Amino acid sequence: MKMLFIGAGKMATALATGIVKNELLPVSDLLACDISATARQAFTAATGVRCEAPSQALVTDADVLLLAVKPQLAAAVAAELMPIRPGALVISICAGIGINKLQQWFGTGNIIRVMPNTPLMVGKGASAYALGPDADAAAAALAGRILGALGLARQVDEALLDAVTALSGSGPAYVFEMAKAMAAAGEEAGLPATLSLDLTIQTIAGAAEMLARRLGTPDELRDAVTSPNGTTAAGLTVMAQHEFRAMMRDVVTAARKRSAELG
Ligand code: NAD
Repeated sequence: MKMLFIGAGKMATALATGIVKNELLPVSDLLACDISATARQAFTAATGVRCEAPSQALVTDADVLLLAVKPQLAAAVAAELMPIRPGALVISICAGIGINKLQQWFGTGNIIRVMPNTPLMVGKGASAYALGPDADAAAAALAGRILGALGLARQVDEALLDAVTALSGSGPAYVFEMAKAMAAAGEEAGLPATLSLDLTIQTIAGAAEMLARRLGTPDELRDAVTSPNGTTAAGLTVMAQHEFRAMMRDVVTAARKRSAELG
């Protein structure tokens, strides 16, 4: 089964790295194409997978096409590279591009639409994927294996992908923003900048690890470190006064609405 990455940027590099490392497909069955010579070189250096300039011949030869260009370029790229091989599977990671549009562009319902996130690059991704009308169980299993090698992967109805985009797609940025705010607050409290950032990062990573190991629910873990009238309670009281939970709800709602508008 020959898989062609269309666009060999950051996300394609992460996905190809996962496929190669986990021996999901032989390197000889993988190929990528990119208009940028710099991207081609970087992709091959990182993955060991050949990367060429885009051409129709490459596309016709592929059983699986993985579309990983920026969303605003996707329609033009699809038009340039059509037609694809009959029966080929199209996997798209382009944010906000619906199965309907992909079906029109590629003339097939054998489609999987994926919403990954950037921690995929460190093997800690959170991805959800939806099947097009003609994608079968084998196609779903392939997507599950590829995405699952790089973190969490769940199949969902396409209608949920705007919410997924708002939560886990954009979510890393919320955590980075929180890290920035925590580190700045630590500095204002008198800590040297580097120490404050180091402590912030380790705190987020440690708390995430406790959650990931299911040592308790978020509520239980929070309560376990909160003594009545203690320091954590003082901090949490301020979070409640500033309506932290309502703010997070608004954050995710705004991102979901935007995702729906873009689609
Ligand atoms: P990127 O800019 O790193 O990579 C895109 C690559 O496509 C570039 O190397 C570019 O040269 C290449 N390209 C442009 N036109 C081309 C053409 N005609 N033919 C072949 N290649 C072409 O982008 P990325 O961050 O890897 O994002 C790729 C996709 O992943 C986007 O659609 C994005 O929506 C999606 N995505 C990204 C994230 C994220 O946080 N980065 C998260 C979820 C989904």
